Amino acid sequence: MERGEGMYLWDTEGKRYLDFVGGWAVNSLGHSPAVLHEALSRQSSLLVHASPSFYNKPMLEFSRLLTDISCFDKVFFTSTGSEANESAVKLARKYGALKLDGAYEIITMTGSFHGRTLAMMSATGKPHWKQLFEPKVPGFRHVPLNDIDALFAAIHSGTCAIMLELVQGEGGVHEANESYLYAIRKACDMYGLLLIADEVQTGLGRTGSMFAYERYGIEPDIMTLGKGIGGGFPLSAMLAKQELDLFDAGDQGGTYTGQPLGMAAGLAVVQEIITRNLPEHAAKQGEYLTGQLRSLAVKHQLHHIRGKGLLLAFDLPSGLSSDKLVALCRDNGLLINAPQPSSIRLMPPLVVTAAEIDEMIGMLDHALTALSV
Ligand code: PMP
Repeated sequence: MERGEGMYLWDTEGKRYLDFVGGWAVNSLGHSPAVLHEALSRQSSLLVHASPSFYNKPMLEFSRLLTDISCFDKVFFTSTGSEANESAVKLARKYGALKLDGAYEIITMTGSFHGRTLAMMSATGKPHWKQLFEPKVPGFRHVPLNDIDALFAAIHSGTCAIMLELVQGEGGVHEANESYLYAIRKACDMYGLLLIADEVQTGLGRTGSMFAYERYGIEPDIMTLGKGIGGGFPLSAMLAKQELDLFDAGDQGGTYTGQPLGMAAGLAVVQEIITRNLPEHAAKQGEYLTGQLRSLAVKHQLHHIRGKGLLLAFDLPSGLSSDKLVALCRDNGLLINAPQPSSIRLMPPLVVTAAEIDEMIGMLDHALTALSV
């Protein structure tokens, strides 16, 4: 790819693609948004990097903004979703060491995705990976999503936290039930465990509210953000409640923690998400897109249309491989994603319009028709 603007990408041969993958839910404002360009150029003429020993101005402003719009008090910045989750796991382990007699086990869900570092691969509920990269990092126990009995049965004296995506993204767009999250919150309160919400994919408007946890009426103790927070600039964050201010200097960090360019980028992107009320826009466009997908469902035997906001998926009729559909759409100038061999996931930039959704539906209809003959 060579160039991007709004909902479109152009490759080096000048071919145009309508982007319903959005850089894997990263380009929240679309491609090459002016606010991101302006923030990066302003900051790069002021200060590109000092060192993680110093705070910087956009870092303070950005931390304040993130704590103002969420239920959290403390922010720690990293560059990727995996690192934000590593930070959350280390914080939960320190909490377990200090407050729970050394408990360190974290319960995560089958079908989950938390990243590709060794620890996050071990936290992730994809068994086939681990067979290839043994030995896994100990301290993670997997339970099926939405099974309250299995969750309670898995909690023991060595447990320090429960970690989950409120909507599993890479796993194929599967939502946690409201009653399940309620039970998790209750279990955490009863046993003094931490609830970690991995909102790397769902956060900052993607599911139609600023954060997915808001829709459930519960508050996690720790939340991780990534992807859309930088609008394409590599940036992630861990947010936590005041009482979890447990890291001492040197416990967690890195050369690029709170790096000024990333801070200026994130600040500009999140301000724009707020100013344009993109969570509400995502909710509205998500409903429209769902309705349009339903209108194709009977003709092409699409089923299990699911998801919230602009994190949507559907299953294909048996015999039709999602890889084949993705490849044909790409050849025709439409980008969609296949999280599973028989399902398609859509996660366009949050700024997508109804006209762009109509264009996409037309192209999808065309490709499905071509594959059905
Ligand atoms: N958590 C979730 C929910 C994700 O979807 C992802 C990325 N797909 C990650 C963590 C890992 O983020 P990164 O690839 O930036 O390390």
